[in-house]
Amino acid sequence: PEDQPEPDPSKKTLVILGTGWGAVSLLKKLDTENYNVIVVSPRNYFLFTPLLPSCTTGTIEHRSIMEPIRNFLRHKKAAVKFYEAEATKIDYEKKVVYINDQSEIKGDISATEVPFDMLVVGVGAENATFGIPGVREHGLFLKEVADAQRIRTRIMDCCETAVFKDQDPEERKRLLHMVVVGGGPTGVEFAGELQDFFNNDLKKWIPDIQDSFHVTLVEALPNVLPMFSKQLIEYTEKTFQEETITIRTKTMVKNVTDKYIEAESTGPDGKKVLEKIPYGLLVWATGNALRPVVKDLMMQIPAQKDSRRGLAVNEYLVVKGTENVWAVGDCAVANYAPTAQVAAQEGAFLARLFNQMAKTEEIEHELKHLSVEQEKAPSKEARDQVFTEIKELQKRLRRVKQIGPFEYSHQGSLAYIGSEKAVADISWLSGNFASGGTLTYFFWRSAYLSMCFSTRNRVLVFMDWVKAKMFGRDVSRE
Ligand code: FAD
Ligand code: NAD
Repeated sequence: PEDQPEPDPSKKTLVILGTGWGAVSLLKKLDTENYNVIVVSPRNYFLFTPLLPSCTTGTIEHRSIMEPIRNFLRHKKAAVKFYEAEATKIDYEKKVVYINDQSEIKGDISATEVPFDMLVVGVGAENATFGIPGVREHGLFLKEVADAQRIRTRIMDCCETAVFKDQDPEERKRLLHMVVVGGGPTGVEFAGELQDFFNNDLKKWIPDIQDSFHVTLVEALPNVLPMFSKQLIEYTEKTFQEETITIRTKTMVKNVTDKYIEAESTGPDGKKVLEKIPYGLLVWATGNALRPVVKDLMMQIPAQKDSRRGLAVNEYLVVKGTENVWAVGDCAVANYAPTAQVAAQEGAFLARLFNQMAKTEEIEHELKHLSVEQEKAPSKEARDQVFTEIKELQKRLRRVKQIGPFEYSHQGSLAYIGSEKAVADISWLSGNFASGGTLTYFFWRSAYLSMCFSTRNRVLVFMDWVKAKMFGRDVSRE
């Protein structure tokens, strides 16, 4: 696979968009010898997102949860081409993907097209802002490595600016008010990590911030973590209270400026109040929105016209209204939550499907060949011999073709909530098992460690945890 050969014209070209949970899990199990496989993604690495919140405070260094895609692809049996680029448009009729090199360094050619016979869309989702003014300009997201780095820098910047000589106490309070919008798992995990950072390190290194540093989590719904059981929601809210994180439920952010957010809260009497909440750091975690390339593809396919949240797929993950396009993960709508767990299982399912499709084609080809041979057979014995072979192959073909539809198997939900506590709803233990606390935290750590992409990642993450425990987190601002 070192010197990449030209595409084999006898094989179909399979283009995979993305290097996230869905795409990489497909690539892991795909027998790449069957197709000319081409991967396109603006990110030349896989990112283990469950530990991304830990990168915002330096508990884990970001490179520990990245796995270079080239490192992984070079172990595949047949060469896979990788282009670091963004798919800007998919022309479904023409069977072409237009790609654009978005990186800083560009060669003479930075935009071109990639034809496909089969296409898998695994481009994930964008951050939802619901068109709320000021979010993109002033808020920080938490989806990619660069986002986590930005947050890490901003936390330190706020702390150092807050203790600047002669800083007004009100302004200091504002700068040290860390506001997180969105009480889904991303917002909750980040708030927990941030409070840990303050409790374990920041208040020791910068004692002057002690009285003013405060974390607030803002959620529009009546409670946080809607996908967890009631008992775990209560446990999380109680833990946050003990950690002095303020949770503002039934509070919807409507506008964002550079120094405050405007939020509408609903009081117990049902009355709505609009208030200004000053902040120094604003992390925006209100879930997913469609990527433009996905939106554009949906507009080209009449069967997608009623779909809102992503590409509607059938039970084999085929994009409805197409024959040769599949979708996995956050950009697909298959009635499951947009999680890594779902994306990974969908990717693995497609790998099985494609491996079987290739086998089917091979058998069908062989059958065609045998029926010609049967006609040409010089004697009855020879004809019977071929006939037996055909029967055998037909049996095999039926077996191979028997691939059932995709079925998601939910292993449970896990989230870190700070102060060495985690919550878990686990379905593989008898019935539904809900737990929270320090023991669950160790379970969370070992589960995530075992889920890491490679041994290399596992070792790096483990060493980061040990480092943070021994020396504290690094508070230098990059
Ligand atoms: P992604 O993993 O987002 O991958 C999308 C890929 O497509 C990326 O490689 C991207 O670079 C690429 N791409 C983007 N645009 C284009 C384009 N135009 N052309 C080509 N490629 C493109 N889920 C869990 O189950 N458990 C967790 O603990 C958990 N924790 C999370 C923590 C955080 C902070 C976040 C943000 C998410 C978390 N999730 C978790 C959700 C999980 O990460 C997503 O559901 C999962 O990543 C979806 O996989 P995907 O393959 O659809 O997309
Ligand atoms: P989410 O969609 O789960 O939660 C977003 C929250 O923001 C919602 O509760 C919503 O009510 C709130 N919100 C929306 N607009 C608001 C506004 N204007 N003001 C105040 N609140 C507002 O988003 P997420 O947490 O980013 O998660 C995205 C996906 O990734 C989910 O499927 C989640 O399960 C998955 N994920 C899982 C884990 C985990 O399992 N540990 C961690 C992170 C993410």
